[in-house]
Amino acid sequence: MAFDRLLSGDPSTRLRLQRQLMGAGSYMMFMLPGVLAVHWGWTRLGYGGLLALFGAALAVNTAFFAAIRSGWSRRFRDPTLLVPQILVALVLAVVTIHYMRDEARSIMLMLFVAMFFFGVFGLTTRQFLRLAALAVLAYAGLMAFEFRDRPLHTASFRMEVLRLVSLVMITVWLSFVGGYFARLRQKLADRRDALQDALAQVRELSERDELTGARNRRHLMRALERERQRAARTGATFSVALLDIDRFKQFNDVHGHQIGDEILGAFCACVQQCARDLDVLAREDVDDTFGRYGGEEFLLLLPHTPLDGAMQCLERIRATVETTAFRTSAGPLAATFSAGVAEYRAGETAAHLLARADAALYRAKREGRNRVLAAGTVG
Ligand code: GH3
Ligand code: MG
Ligand code: MG
Repeated sequence: MAFDRLLSGDPSTRLRLQRQLMGAGSYMMFMLPGVLAVHWGWTRLGYGGLLALFGAALAVNTAFFAAIRSGWSRRFRDPTLLVPQILVALVLAVVTIHYMRDEARSIMLMLFVAMFFFGVFGLTTRQFLRLAALAVLAYAGLMAFEFRDRPLHTASFRMEVLRLVSLVMITVWLSFVGGYFARLRQKLADRRDALQDALAQVRELSERDELTGARNRRHLMRALERERQRAARTGATFSVALLDIDRFKQFNDVHGHQIGDEILGAFCACVQQCARDLDVLAREDVDDTFGRYGGEEFLLLLPHTPLDGAMQCLERIRATVETTAFRTSAGPLAATFSAGVAEYRAGETAAHLLARADAALYRAKREGRNRVLAAGTVG
């Protein structure tokens, strides 16, 4: 778990650090061949030199790790510091090869290849090719340095040319393959983003009522739960109101189901508009706090609103609906609603809160409809 803490909680930093550790690990891969090369005399590096090289690798990797872990590297376009890391590896590889005797050099060229693999984590073909050019230039530079006062028409020089040509071929090839993988990764990432967007859309649709376009019960229950949690956290209060259209069945019976549907839509829009115009609710996203609870029943959440404020709001909405003629294909029709309002009480379940509002609604119906009643504190 200490290792886990070392990696940071932020997911993207964590990923960067994991890659960085993989990079550091690949240095260690060369430890055993390095020791064997020293042991059998293939390199002019002694154990001391080998140790110094690995010490340098360790120090540089620790520095990179710290730069990423602390967030310092975030100021750069690539916070993984991929290019600097590969450049360091390049320098270390050239130094190592410089000390290698002829026959062991080809093997050490693998160092270059291993380095390139890390580019798959994010380099484009162009960046790969730049690195390839750098690697080839570095190797050519090493050759120029080593053969500055040696004859060139020797087998040993030709061998170096052969290595250089191979290096060109391998790095160019890796650049294209690596670039291809980078594009593939990007495509996958794009597809994941598109999926996330689609998922958000599906979720949005799954929380809308098909008939009225308003929020549906599923959404309202989630919103209610959110309010409840906010109240528990901050001690803020909120209220709920259950609205039920009066004698709705008659619209269906007299004008047909289609007209009933139209009234539901018009009623919904009317209450939403009215709620938006209310001072208390204007600050809230009404589209989020009002919706169809079922049939011809609607639920309005009133965040930060105590019972008396909620009662005033509902009374205003009731008065507006009462005087509104809903436009339908059967001409303008008037409708009223009854409502039960309840203020949330600390510790209460959502079901209990709604049951209290429903009981108040039931009383409003019994007392003659077209009225708003407050729920009792017990029940
Ligand atoms: P009350 O004043 O007591 O609420 O009387 P009501 O007629 O409104 O209540 P009741 O519960 O008896 O009837 C509700 C009706 O609403 C019955 C049902 O057919 C109708 N209804 C429910 N959902 C829809 C819908 O989506 N479209 C239409 N057109 N009617 C619906
Ligand atoms: Mg009803
Ligand atoms: Mg009704």
